[in-house]
Amino acid sequence: MSFFDILSSLKLPSITDLSFREVEKTLAKESLNERDLFVLLSKEAEPYLENMAQRAHRETLKHFGRTMRIYTPLYISDYCDNACLYCGFNRNNNFPRRRLSWEEVEDEGKAIAKKGFQDLLVLTGESRSQSPVSYIAEACKILHPYFPALSVEIYPLSRGEYELLHRFGVNGLTIYQETYDPHLYDTLHPVGPKRNFRFRLEAPERGGEAKLRWINIGVLLGLGDWRKDIFILGLHARYLMERFPHCDVGVGVPRLRPYFGTPAFQPQPVTDRNLVQIICALRLFLPRLNISLTTREKPDLRNNLIPLGITRISAGSVTSVGGHRREDPPPGVPQFDVADHRSLDELVRIIRAKQYEPVTHDWLDDAL
Ligand code: SF4
Repeated sequence: MSFFDILSSLKLPSITDLSFREVEKTLAKESLNERDLFVLLSKEAEPYLENMAQRAHRETLKHFGRTMRIYTPLYISDYCDNACLYCGFNRNNNFPRRRLSWEEVEDEGKAIAKKGFQDLLVLTGESRSQSPVSYIAEACKILHPYFPALSVEIYPLSRGEYELLHRFGVNGLTIYQETYDPHLYDTLHPVGPKRNFRFRLEAPERGGEAKLRWINIGVLLGLGDWRKDIFILGLHARYLMERFPHCDVGVGVPRLRPYFGTPAFQPQPVTDRNLVQIICALRLFLPRLNISLTTREKPDLRNNLIPLGITRISAGSVTSVGGHRREDPPPGVPQFDVADHRSLDELVRIIRAKQYEPVTHDWLDDAL
Protein backbone atom coordinates (compact mmCIF):
# COMPACT_ATOMS: atom_id res chain seq x y z
CA MET A 1 0.00 0.00 0.00
CA SER A 2 1.45 3.36 -1.00
CA PHE A 3 1.19 6.45 1.17
CA PHE A 4 -1.29 7.84 -1.37
CA ASP A 5 -3.67 4.96 -0.48
CA ILE A 6 -3.17 5.64 3.23
CA LEU A 7 -3.81 9.35 2.78
CA SER A 8 -6.92 8.69 0.68
CA SER A 9 -8.55 6.72 3.51
CA LEU A 10 -7.16 8.80 6.40
CA LYS A 11 -9.63 10.18 8.92
CA LEU A 12 -8.20 12.88 11.17
CA PRO A 13 -8.72 12.21 14.89
CA SER A 14 -11.57 14.12 16.50
CA ILE A 15 -10.55 17.03 18.72
CA THR A 16 -13.91 17.64 20.32
CA ASP A 17 -12.99 15.74 23.45
CA LEU A 18 -9.42 17.01 23.78
CA SER A 19 -8.47 18.24 27.26
CA PHE A 20 -5.37 19.48 29.08
CA ARG A 21 -5.46 16.21 31.02
CA GLU A 22 -4.98 14.29 27.76
CA VAL A 23 -1.95 16.44 26.88
CA GLU A 24 -0.45 15.62 30.29
CA LYS A 25 -1.13 11.91 29.84
CA THR A 26 0.47 12.01 26.40
CA LEU A 27 3.58 13.70 27.75
CA ALA A 28 3.91 11.00 30.40
CA LYS A 29 3.99 8.17 27.81
CA GLU A 30 7.20 6.42 26.71
CA SER A 31 6.33 6.05 23.04
CA LEU A 32 3.71 7.94 21.10
CA ASN A 33 1.05 6.87 18.62
CA GLU A 34 -0.82 8.77 15.90
CA ARG A 35 -3.37 10.18 18.29
CA ASP A 36 -0.56 11.43 20.56
CA LEU A 37 1.03 13.34 17.69
CA PHE A 38 -2.32 14.97 17.01
CA VAL A 39 -2.61 15.91 20.68
CA LEU A 40 0.87 17.45 20.80
CA LEU A 41 0.15 19.55 17.72
CA SER A 42 -3.12 20.86 19.17
CA LYS A 43 -3.85 24.29 20.59
CA GLU A 44 -4.41 22.58 23.97
CA ALA A 45 -0.74 21.52 24.01
CA GLU A 46 0.55 25.09 23.67
CA PRO A 47 0.79 25.75 27.46
CA TYR A 48 3.04 22.65 27.72
CA LEU A 49 5.66 23.89 25.28
CA GLU A 50 8.42 24.14 27.88
CA ASN A 51 7.79 20.58 29.00
CA MET A 52 7.75 19.38 25.38
CA ALA A 53 10.99 21.25 24.64
CA GLN A 54 12.80 19.64 27.57
CA ARG A 55 11.74 16.18 26.53
CA ALA A 56 12.55 16.87 22.85
CA HIS A 57 16.04 17.95 23.90
CA ARG A 58 16.57 14.74 25.90
CA GLU A 59 15.27 12.51 23.07
CA THR A 60 17.51 14.23 20.53
CA LEU A 61 20.58 13.79 22.72
CA LYS A 62 19.71 10.13 23.23
CA HIS A 63 19.51 9.38 19.49
CA PHE A 64 21.86 11.87 17.84
CA GLY A 65 24.25 12.93 20.59
CA ARG A 66 25.58 16.48 20.47
CA THR A 67 25.98 16.55 16.70
CA MET A 68 24.68 18.86 13.98
CA ARG A 69 24.99 18.01 10.30
CA ILE A 70 25.65 20.97 8.02
CA TYR A 71 24.85 21.28 4.31
CA THR A 72 24.53 23.96 1.68
CA PRO A 73 22.36 24.29 -1.43
CA LEU A 74 23.53 24.91 -5.01
CA TYR A 75 20.97 26.01 -7.59
CA ILE A 76 22.11 24.94 -11.04
CA SER A 77 19.02 26.05 -13.03
CA ASP A 78 16.01 28.32 -12.47
CA TYR A 79 13.85 27.29 -15.42
CA CYS A 80 10.44 26.09 -14.28
CA ASP A 81 7.32 24.75 -16.01
CA ASN A 82 5.09 25.36 -13.00
CA ALA A 83 3.39 28.42 -11.60
CA CYS A 84 3.26 27.78 -7.86
CA LEU A 85 1.61 30.82 -6.32
CA TYR A 86 4.27 31.11 -3.58
CA CYS A 87 7.55 31.00 -5.52
CA GLY A 88 9.87 33.42 -7.33
CA PHE A 89 10.69 30.82 -10.01
CA ASN A 90 6.99 30.72 -11.05
CA ARG A 91 7.02 30.41 -14.84
CA ASN A 92 4.86 33.54 -15.18
CA ASN A 93 7.56 35.69 -13.58
CA ASN A 94 9.50 37.40 -16.30
CA PHE A 95 13.26 37.47 -15.70
CA PRO A 96 16.28 36.14 -17.56
CA ARG A 97 16.58 32.43 -16.70
CA ARG A 98 19.73 30.39 -16.91
CA ARG A 99 21.38 27.12 -16.09
CA LEU A 100 25.02 26.53 -15.28
CA SER A 101 27.42 25.18 -17.88
CA TRP A 102 29.54 22.13 -16.96
CA GLU A 103 32.47 24.44 -16.32
CA GLU A 104 30.39 26.68 -14.05
CA VAL A 105 29.08 23.62 -12.16
CA GLU A 106 32.64 22.52 -11.46
CA ASP A 107 33.77 26.03 -10.48
CA GLU A 108 30.82 26.39 -8.10
CA GLY A 109 31.53 22.95 -6.64
CA LYS A 110 35.18 23.75 -6.07
CA ALA A 111 34.34 27.10 -4.44
CA ILE A 112 31.80 25.47 -2.10
CA ALA A 113 34.15 22.60 -1.18
CA LYS A 114 36.93 25.13 -0.47
CA LYS A 115 34.70 26.77 2.15
CA GLY A 116 34.59 23.41 3.97
CA PHE A 117 31.22 22.01 2.93
CA GLN A 118 31.01 18.29 2.15
CA ASP A 119 27.24 17.84 2.05
CA LEU A 120 25.67 19.46 -1.02
CA LEU A 121 22.02 19.77 -2.03
CA VAL A 122 21.69 20.34 -5.80
CA LEU A 123 18.53 22.19 -6.82
CA THR A 124 16.77 23.17 -10.01
CA GLY A 125 13.47 24.76 -10.89
CA GLU A 126 11.15 22.06 -12.18
CA SER A 127 11.59 21.90 -15.96
CA ARG A 128 12.19 18.57 -17.65
CA SER A 129 12.86 20.30 -20.96
CA GLN A 130 15.41 22.88 -19.71
CA SER A 131 17.07 20.78 -17.01
CA PRO A 132 16.51 17.17 -18.13
CA VAL A 133 17.61 14.22 -16.02
CA SER A 134 20.67 13.82 -18.27
CA TYR A 135 21.79 17.39 -17.43
CA ILE A 136 21.24 16.89 -13.69
CA ALA A 137 23.04 13.52 -13.77
CA GLU A 138 26.06 15.01 -15.54
CA ALA A 139 26.18 17.92 -13.08
CA CYS A 140 26.10 15.45 -10.18
CA LYS A 141 28.85 13.38 -11.75
CA ILE A 142 31.02 16.51 -11.85
CA LEU A 143 30.17 17.45 -8.25
CA HIS A 144 30.40 13.99 -6.67
CA PRO A 145 34.22 13.94 -6.29
CA TYR A 146 33.98 17.09 -4.14
CA PHE A 147 31.01 16.03 -1.97
CA PRO A 148 30.74 12.68 -0.17
CA ALA A 149 27.11 13.57 0.62
CA LEU A 150 25.25 14.67 -2.50
CA SER A 151 21.48 15.01 -2.74
CA VAL A 152 19.00 16.57 -5.14
CA GLU A 153 15.89 18.70 -4.80
CA ILE A 154 14.33 18.61 -8.27
CA TYR A 155 11.07 17.59 -9.98
CA PRO A 156 9.76 14.10 -9.08
CA LEU A 157 11.35 11.25 -11.07
CA SER A 158 10.56 7.64 -11.92
CA ARG A 159 12.31 4.88 -9.99
CA GLY A 160 14.61 4.23 -12.99
CA GLU A 161 15.61 7.89 -13.10
CA TYR A 162 16.44 7.91 -9.39
CA GLU A 163 18.55 4.77 -9.97
CA LEU A 164 20.37 6.60 -12.75
CA LEU A 165 21.14 9.58 -10.50
CA HIS A 166 22.28 7.16 -7.80
CA ARG A 167 24.82 5.73 -10.26
CA PHE A 168 26.08 9.28 -10.87
CA GLY A 169 26.81 9.86 -7.18
CA VAL A 170 23.48 11.05 -5.77
CA ASN A 171 22.72 9.49 -2.41
CA GLY A 172 19.82 11.60 -1.20
CA LEU A 173 16.53 13.11 -2.24
CA THR A 174 14.60 16.09 -0.92
CA ILE A 175 11.07 16.53 -2.14
CA TYR A 176 8.39 18.58 -0.42
CA GLN A 177 4.70 17.92 -0.92
CA GLU A 178 4.12 21.59 0.06
CA THR A 179 0.67 20.70 1.48
CA TYR A 180 -1.14 17.38 1.96
CA ASP A 181 -4.51 19.03 1.36
CA PRO A 182 -5.34 17.99 -2.23
CA HIS A 183 -7.86 20.81 -2.76
CA LEU A 184 -5.48 23.50 -1.58
CA TYR A 185 -2.71 21.82 -3.60
CA ASP A 186 -4.88 22.18 -6.71
CA THR A 187 -5.41 25.89 -6.08
CA LEU A 188 -1.75 26.65 -5.39
CA HIS A 189 -0.53 24.80 -8.49
CA PRO A 190 -2.76 26.09 -11.29
CA VAL A 191 -0.69 24.83 -14.24
CA GLY A 192 2.25 22.55 -15.02
CA PRO A 193 3.28 18.97 -14.22
CA LYS A 194 3.36 19.70 -10.50
CA ARG A 195 -0.43 19.52 -10.56
CA ASN A 196 0.00 15.75 -10.39
CA PHE A 197 -0.39 15.41 -6.59
CA ARG A 198 -0.02 11.64 -6.53
CA PHE A 199 3.13 11.43 -8.66
CA ARG A 200 4.83 13.90 -6.32
CA LEU A 201 3.52 12.22 -3.15
CA GLU A 202 4.92 8.84 -4.22
CA ALA A 203 8.33 10.20 -5.30
CA PRO A 204 10.00 9.47 -1.92
CA GLU A 205 8.85 5.84 -2.24
CA ARG A 206 10.42 5.58 -5.70
CA GLY A 207 13.60 7.10 -4.23
CA GLY A 208 13.58 4.48 -1.48
CA GLU A 209 13.07 1.69 -4.03
CA ALA A 210 16.05 3.12 -5.96
CA LYS A 211 18.11 2.55 -2.77
CA LEU A 212 18.83 6.20 -2.07
CA ARG A 213 20.28 6.47 1.38
CA TRP A 214 18.72 9.74 2.48
CA ILE A 215 15.12 10.88 1.95
CA ASN A 216 13.87 14.25 3.12
CA ILE A 217 10.22 15.28 2.87
CA GLY A 218 8.32 18.33 4.05
CA VAL A 219 5.57 20.89 3.77
CA LEU A 220 5.81 24.62 3.25
CA LEU A 221 4.45 26.20 6.40
CA GLY A 222 2.15 29.13 5.72
CA LEU A 223 0.26 27.59 2.81
CA GLY A 224 -2.47 25.77 4.72
CA ASP A 225 -3.51 24.49 8.14
CA TRP A 226 -0.14 23.65 9.68
CA ARG A 227 -1.55 21.37 12.37
CA LYS A 228 -3.10 19.08 9.77
CA ASP A 229 -0.15 19.27 7.38
CA ILE A 230 2.41 18.44 10.10
CA PHE A 231 0.27 15.60 11.45
CA ILE A 232 0.21 13.99 8.00
CA LEU A 233 3.90 14.77 7.49
CA GLY A 234 4.63 12.82 10.69
CA LEU A 235 2.61 9.83 9.39
CA HIS A 236 4.35 10.05 6.01
CA ALA A 237 7.79 10.06 7.65
CA ARG A 238 6.88 7.07 9.84
CA TYR A 239 5.62 5.19 6.77
CA LEU A 240 8.93 5.80 4.95
CA MET A 241 11.01 4.80 7.99
CA GLU A 242 9.11 1.53 8.33
CA ARG A 243 9.08 0.71 4.62
CA PHE A 244 12.72 1.67 3.91
CA PRO A 245 14.78 0.80 6.96
CA HIS A 246 18.00 1.32 4.95
CA CYS A 247 17.08 5.01 4.57
CA ASP A 248 17.88 7.95 6.76
CA VAL A 249 14.49 9.67 6.72
CA GLY A 250 14.19 13.36 7.50
CA VAL A 251 11.75 16.23 7.35
CA GLY A 252 12.03 19.92 6.63
CA VAL A 253 9.71 22.49 8.19
CA PRO A 254 10.38 25.66 6.16
CA ARG A 255 8.18 28.69 6.62
CA LEU A 256 7.06 30.80 3.69
CA ARG A 257 9.42 33.74 2.92
CA PRO A 258 9.05 36.80 0.70
CA TYR A 259 9.59 36.00 -2.98
CA PHE A 260 9.78 37.77 -6.33
CA GLY A 261 6.41 38.43 -7.97
CA THR A 262 2.94 39.50 -6.90
CA PRO A 263 1.60 37.56 -3.90
CA ALA A 264 -1.45 35.70 -5.15
CA PHE A 265 -2.83 34.26 -1.94
CA GLN A 266 -3.11 35.06 1.76
CA PRO A 267 -0.44 33.16 3.77
CA GLN A 268 -1.51 31.45 7.00
CA PRO A 269 0.40 32.66 10.08
CA VAL A 270 2.90 30.25 11.67
CA THR A 271 4.54 31.88 14.70
CA ASP A 272 7.93 31.11 16.23
CA ARG A 273 6.13 29.30 19.06
CA ASN A 274 4.18 27.26 16.52
CA LEU A 275 7.48 26.28 14.90
CA VAL A 276 8.89 25.16 18.25
CA GLN A 277 5.75 23.11 18.90
CA ILE A 278 6.08 21.48 15.47
CA ILE A 279 9.72 20.50 15.99
CA CYS A 280 9.10 19.17 19.50
CA ALA A 281 5.97 17.21 18.55
CA LEU A 282 7.75 15.55 15.61
CA ARG A 283 10.76 14.71 17.76
CA LEU A 284 8.60 13.09 20.47
CA PHE A 285 6.58 11.14 17.91
CA LEU A 286 9.62 9.91 15.94
CA PRO A 287 12.75 10.11 18.13
CA ARG A 288 15.07 8.94 15.32
CA LEU A 289 13.75 11.34 12.69
CA ASN A 290 16.15 13.83 11.11
CA ILE A 291 14.81 17.37 11.21
CA SER A 292 16.35 20.06 8.99
CA LEU A 293 16.31 23.80 9.47
CA THR A 294 17.04 26.13 6.56
CA THR A 295 18.20 29.72 6.24
CA ARG A 296 14.58 30.77 5.87
CA GLU A 297 14.75 31.37 9.64
CA LYS A 298 16.56 34.27 11.33
CA PRO A 299 19.93 33.70 13.07
CA ASP A 300 18.67 34.11 16.67
CA LEU A 301 15.82 31.66 16.21
CA ARG A 302 18.09 29.16 14.46
CA ASN A 303 20.58 29.38 17.32
CA ASN A 304 17.85 28.72 19.86
CA LEU A 305 16.36 25.80 17.94
CA ILE A 306 19.64 23.87 17.78
CA PRO A 307 19.16 21.97 21.07
CA LEU A 308 15.45 21.29 20.59
CA GLY A 309 15.42 18.57 17.97
CA ILE A 310 17.11 19.93 14.86
CA THR A 311 19.73 17.54 13.47
CA ARG A 312 20.65 19.13 10.14
CA ILE A 313 21.12 22.78 9.31
CA SER A 314 22.05 24.74 6.18
CA ALA A 315 24.58 27.55 5.91
CA GLY A 316 26.02 29.88 3.29
CA SER A 317 22.81 29.60 1.26
CA VAL A 318 22.29 31.32 -2.07
CA THR A 319 18.83 30.76 -3.57
CA SER A 320 19.52 31.88 -7.14
CA VAL A 321 21.57 30.05 -9.76
CA GLY A 322 25.26 29.77 -8.89
CA GLY A 323 26.61 32.53 -6.67
CA HIS A 324 29.09 30.65 -4.50
CA ARG A 325 32.20 31.72 -6.43
CA ARG A 326 32.05 35.41 -5.60
CA GLU A 327 30.77 37.70 -2.89
CA ASP A 328 28.47 39.81 -5.14
CA PRO A 329 24.91 38.58 -5.37
CA PRO A 330 24.55 36.46 -8.52
CA PRO A 331 22.41 37.71 -11.40
CA GLY A 332 18.86 36.38 -11.63
CA VAL A 333 16.04 36.13 -9.15
CA PRO A 334 16.20 34.16 -5.88
CA GLN A 335 13.61 31.46 -5.31
CA PHE A 336 12.93 33.12 -1.93
CA ASP A 337 14.66 35.58 0.41
CA VAL A 338 17.24 34.11 2.79
CA ALA A 339 16.95 35.27 6.44
CA ASP A 340 20.30 33.98 7.75
CA HIS A 341 23.35 34.95 5.70
CA ARG A 342 26.01 33.50 8.00
CA SER A 343 28.94 31.59 6.55
CA LEU A 344 29.90 28.03 7.44
CA ASP A 345 32.63 29.31 9.79
CA GLU A 346 30.22 31.55 11.69
CA LEU A 347 27.68 28.76 12.09
CA VAL A 348 30.36 26.32 13.21
CA ARG A 349 31.38 28.79 15.95
CA ILE A 350 27.79 29.05 17.19
CA ILE A 351 27.30 25.27 17.15
CA ARG A 352 30.53 24.71 19.09
CA ALA A 353 29.61 27.45 21.58
CA LYS A 354 26.51 25.40 22.35
CA GLN A 355 28.76 22.37 22.94
CA TYR A 356 27.59 20.60 19.81
CA GLU A 357 29.87 19.02 17.23
CA PRO A 358 29.38 20.28 13.66
CA VAL A 359 29.42 17.39 11.19
CA THR A 360 30.06 18.19 7.52
CA HIS A 361 29.43 14.59 6.46
CA ASP A 362 28.89 11.38 8.35
CA TRP A 363 29.43 8.62 5.84
CA LEU A 364 31.37 7.57 2.73
CA ASP A 365 30.05 5.50 -0.14
CA ASP A 366 31.99 2.80 -1.98
CA ALA A 367 33.08 5.16 -4.73
CA LEU A 368 35.15 7.41 -2.46
S1 SF4 B 1 8.16 25.86 -6.06
FE1 SF4 B 1 9.40 24.65 -7.48
S2 SF4 B 1 7.94 23.98 -9.01
FE2 SF4 B 1 6.98 25.68 -7.99
S3 SF4 B 1 7.46 27.51 -9.21
FE3 SF4 B 1 9.03 27.27 -7.60
S4 SF4 B 1 10.69 26.12 -8.54
FE4 SF4 B 1 8.86 25.86 -9.81
